[in-house]
Amino acid sequence: MPTTTNKDYYALLGVKKTATPEEIRKAFRKAARKYHPDVNPGDKKAEEKFKEISEANDILSDEKKRKIYDQVGFYSDQIDPAQAEAYARQQNSGGRPPVDFGGFDFSGFQGGGGPGPQAGAGSSTWGSFKDIFSGIFSGAPDAQRPRGPQPGSDLEYQATVDFWTAIRGGPARLQIHRQEICPTCHGQAHTGGPMTCPECNGSGQVTQMGGRMKFNIPCPRCNGTGRVSNDCPTCHGEGTISKTETVEFRIKPGTRDGQRIRLQGKGNAGVNGGAAGDLFVIVRTGAHPVFTRTGDDIHITVPVTVPEASLGAKVDVPTIDGRAQLKIPPGTQSGQKLRMRERGVESASNAGQRGDQIVTVNVVVPHLQDERSKEIMRELAKLNSQDPRVTLFDKL
Ligand SMILES: [Zn+2]
Ligand SMILES: [Zn+2]
Repeated sequence: MPTTTNKDYYALLGVKKTATPEEIRKAFRKAARKYHPDVNPGDKKAEEKFKEISEANDILSDEKKRKIYDQVGFYSDQIDPAQAEAYARQQNSGGRPPVDFGGFDFSGFQGGGGPGPQAGAGSSTWGSFKDIFSGIFSGAPDAQRPRGPQPGSDLEYQATVDFWTAIRGGPARLQIHRQEICPTCHGQAHTGGPMTCPECNGSGQVTQMGGRMKFNIPCPRCNGTGRVSNDCPTCHGEGTISKTETVEFRIKPGTRDGQRIRLQGKGNAGVNGGAAGDLFVIVRTGAHPVFTRTGDDIHITVPVTVPEASLGAKVDVPTIDGRAQLKIPPGTQSGQKLRMRERGVESASNAGQRGDQIVTVNVVVPHLQDERSKEIMRELAKLNSQDPRVTLFDKL
């Protein structure tokens, strides 16, 4: 009969038996960082090691469980703390312990459904690396696989569309990875009928060591039935497979940067008939060499000559619809902003509404080469002799 060996949880985490909860927590985090399946993709040894340290952490980080483990040599939810206490006292007094655990159901002995040594987990059932370190991780990622319909999770992706597609609308495509219903078992997770449990060879019992005692306990893999379902070879009992897919969708005219598009049912497939999740696409709009977009407004910087700025002029400026005439008022200063109403982007949310185009004027000062031009400029200075800096000194 196969024997489930006892594990030295302290040695697994590399801490002393007297370790404080803080030391245990630190040791687990350090080990988890090293062995987590996310950082060792496809490494079976690391995965096995990760299961072991997770199990050790599950027991040792819980004051009640740790005490029972210290007293009995293994942990089960079924052990009454008073019984464990009595057992430990017997051990310490040196006598052969007559304490009888026979009446207990040890079916849950793997740390209350924690990741046991026989748990057959696919990598997708692990909590993500992030989960452990944000403290959400409970230490039981593959405890009791749910039997009822489970809805698929939502997915979120970013898609960058070019400047013009965001304004005018158009088709876009995106490559995603999603969980899809397994084509072999059609999401049933198993194929054919149940088979003999490989853990207990169909006997329904395994031997557990407790100190110097041996216990026959119901096999944790098959819950003592001796039979387990035959996992589907394609999806390894998950019911879903990971697939890369290209999804096509339409960008509405006027789509803004950061806008979310919901594609119903394009998320991960559900299990056991559960509905598929949704795919959320966050649109990132591309840049343009001349135009800058803010919401529905378009910004542009336009160079203007000194005569145009001082005398006023009508100049052609680019807009997203092509050329348009802009009136520069006399006396326009460099940096001044002029608004061209409803020359911006057509709103995606409010039909018939358009943003504005905001023109920043950049007065270009000429480099005078010839004597005649310089003469004219000097004459101009004489005629307009006011000091533009005078107000600066007024405020000192
Ligand atoms: Zn399958
Ligand atoms: Zn079994």
